[in-house]
Order: sequence, then C-alpha cells, then structure tokens
Amino acid sequence: MKILDRGQMKEAKLCLTCKKPFTIRKKWKNNFDEVLYCSERCRKNKKAEN
Ligand SMILES: [Zn+2]
Repeated sequence: MKILDRGQMKEAKLCLTCKKPFTIRKKWKNNFDEVLYCSERCRKNKKAEN
C-alpha cells in the first residue's frame, strides 16, 4: 500500500503488532517485503499480542 507522508506518497505497510501504517526506510529499501513491524519494539512485542 501507499500512504501520504510529509506530502509524498510512500510505500507503506501495517505493523503486525500496533496495526499502524509505517513507511519504508532507507535501511529497508532492499528488503521491505520482509519487514513486518514498524520498530524494534513492535518486533519484540509480537509475542505479547495473542
Ligand atoms: Zn508497530
């Protein structure tokens, strides 16, 4: 999906933990398909949900 971020349409995803959309970052440029969480905190919190 794409969302508007600071006036620009950017590639984005919904975080599996917090369910909020987050936009692609430079470090994910080559593996954004594999990114499932908006942050390290959400990645670590995945087991707390469900
Ligand atoms: Zn998140």
